[in-house]
Amino acid sequence: MKINSYYSPNFDQNKRTANSIKIIVIHYTGMQSERESLLRLSNPQSKVSSHYLINQSGKIYRMVPDHMTAWHAGKSCWGGYKNINKNSIGIELVNKGHKFGYTSFKKRQLLSLINICKKLIKKYKIKSKNVVGHSDVAPQRKIDPGEKFPWSKLAKKNIGIWHCQKLNSLKRLRKVKIDKTKDKKKFVKYLKKIGYCFSPTNKTFYVKTLKAFQRHYRKGLINGVLDKECLVIAQNLQKSINNP
Ligand SMILES: [Zn+2]
Repeated sequence: MKINSYYSPNFDQNKRTANSIKIIVIHYTGMQSERESLLRLSNPQSKVSSHYLINQSGKIYRMVPDHMTAWHAGKSCWGGYKNINKNSIGIELVNKGHKFGYTSFKKRQLLSLINICKKLIKKYKIKSKNVVGHSDVAPQRKIDPGEKFPWSKLAKKNIGIWHCQKLNSLKRLRKVKIDKTKDKKKFVKYLKKIGYCFSPTNKTFYVKTLKAFQRHYRKGLINGVLDKECLVIAQNLQKSINNP
């Protein structure tokens, strides 16, 4: 796998240990062009970066070395980790995003992503459930890589997790009402086990986290309303996770 260098100065000065790397965060660049993205992610004034950027033809750039903390996730939380830049590797995929014309991710781009993820997962022993999207770790602010990102395909390669329910039978549960107290409690418990973070008092926080879950696992309807389909998916996902 060929990796090209494109230096970004936007990282913490202190080196981190390989052991501190636990999470892979996938992003889209959300900008008009590849060039614009590379410039922004390497501009000292922007104060943002990522470890890798993959263009639409599958070319991979390394912008920050793995052992340095790149500034890609911002205020974020996943599993037991808060402000996860120091515990994660950030990978940007060139895509105009929702603002400038969101398109499907390209085949060669995804192939490169799969290759690099496999390498990183092996090297740092990253758990499947810890390969996530920016929207999963920062649901209040972010929606990337978005609903066009093929999580189920990646899960087949053991990158990230997916449920084992059939889409047709799930669809019958869409918009089916659930018990607002009991089932909601269960749902939050499942999501916490998957890794999502919750604020117990903030209702907007809950709705946005639910939307992030839907964007990842139930792309057909992202409405921020809990229904039976979401509940069944979450239950199935948490079962597949072996927590210590
Ligand atoms: Zn992002």
